[in-house]
Amino acid sequence: MAYSAPSTLQGALSALAAGPVAVIAGGTDFYPGLRDAPAPTDLLDITGIAELRGIARTPTGWRIGACTRWSEIVRADLPPAFDGLKAAGREVGSVQIQNAATVAGNLCNASPAADGVPPLLTLEAEVELASDRGKRRLPLGEFISGVRQVALRPGELVAALHLPDPPAGARAGFAKLGSRRYMVISIAMVAVLVRLDGAGAIAEARIAVGACSPVARRLPALEVMLAGCPAARLAGFDIAPAHLEPLAPIDDLRGTAAYRLDAVAELCRRALAEAVGVAERGDG
Ligand SMILES: Cc1cc2nc3c(=O)[nH]c(=O)nc-3n(C[C@H](O)[C@H](O)[C@H](O)COP(=O)(O)OP(=O)(O)OC[C@H]3O[C@@H](n4cnc5c(N)ncnc54)[C@H](O)[C@@H]3O)c2cc1C
Repeated sequence: MAYSAPSTLQGALSALAAGPVAVIAGGTDFYPGLRDAPAPTDLLDITGIAELRGIARTPTGWRIGACTRWSEIVRADLPPAFDGLKAAGREVGSVQIQNAATVAGNLCNASPAADGVPPLLTLEAEVELASDRGKRRLPLGEFISGVRQVALRPGELVAALHLPDPPAGARAGFAKLGSRRYMVISIAMVAVLVRLDGAGAIAEARIAVGACSPVARRLPALEVMLAGCPAARLAGFDIAPAHLEPLAPIDDLRGTAAYRLDAVAELCRRALAEAVGVAERGDG
């Protein structure tokens, strides 16, 4: 087996261009995913590449390097609009997993239950793809195209995520349901990002749901319905089936489709209360 760990992005892209090679970052999805199969012959470990690490301010927002670990995101000094992403990071396995697992690995694995995807959808993330032919960007919603399917072309890897500046004063929340409290795959999860107007009503809401469709989805009808809703009335507001129309949950050993839809409604209320509650106190 050939194992290579280049220290530059160009080194990694040259190795990818030279022939088939399996990319590994934290390895926390890659190795369990092999099950009983032998590991591929050639492995390209990209975690030693400084250009792929860290969180930086850009003129229009934020850049998160592909190999940034979840624990780095959780500890980063970021605006409150990133609180949902941080909360999701704290739910990725255990602290030991978060110390190894990367944000791009979570996206490239393309599990419907990947906890990082809904908050990144509410932050309107773009994925930067690099190959020896150059770079291109795709909205996250186009990058993940199905269960275990992403829009990576041969010779490409994910170099970074780009997040535009969130709306001024925006707050965020994340709520996850599993069959136990920790170290558990999501039955459903909801990420929200909200901005209140001066009168305490919702000026803008973004809501994304995971584990209830092949790819996590935003809920545009619910987002529109919430606009103008006073924050004080959010705790008991009704969510109609039409608001959840983009979802297509399945029955599996973790829950039925009907249970998932019930859970999503409650998770939406909890994630909104979390986000708006912080905003109402005016702290953070
Ligand atoms: C015990 C345990 C608990 C877990 N719990 C959760 C959980 O609660 N929630 C959750 O969402 N996930 C969970 N996971 C899954 C996993 O930890 C995350 O999805 C993690 O973010 C994957 O990142 P990684 O760096 O380890 O990816 P890797 O395993 O290294 O890679 C995953 C896939 O992405 C590809 N890849 C990685 N980086 C790149 C890149 N930059 N460019 C192109 N392709 C790339 C690899 O080729 C591979 O196909 C858990 C895993 C374990 C083992």
